[in-house]
Amino acid sequence: MADRETPPKKHAPTRIRRHADDHEARLYFEQIRWPDGPVCPHCQDPRYMTLREQPGSRSPVRPGVYKCKRCRKQYTVTVGTPFEGTHLPLNQWLDMIRLLCESREGINARHLHARFGFSYTTACSALRRLTSAVVATQTTEMPAP
Ligand SMILES: [Zn+2]
Repeated sequence: MADRETPPKKHAPTRIRRHADDHEARLYFEQIRWPDGPVCPHCQDPRYMTLREQPGSRSPVRPGVYKCKRCRKQYTVTVGTPFEGTHLPLNQWLDMIRLLCESREGINARHLHARFGFSYTTACSALRRLTSAVVATQTTEMPAP
């Protein structure tokens, strides 16, 4: 009987774990997007400042907002991603991505509506953003013929 060797894995599967809240999910997302620290999505400069609340300021500083030292624009980890400008917390986005990756039959807006409890319109919008991102990723990763 011949020994059967397991072929080496090219890529270890990355499993997206559940995140308790938006803050934890944001830190996870920052770690994936910026493994060497934040990079400005506007000018690609890695130098940044974190914003701090000024004494007497009436507007609170949102966590995860950085300011580029070069172009002076503010940004978060979601700028330039499908999650930019949405009101859904990042932990729900990550849960939706995990669900999308683990589902054998695929998911539809009705699944998202039932699972996460947001409106059907929001579920459709979220699904459209996710599928557009998947298509864009597959298009850019396709080898040349
Ligand atoms: Zn910049």
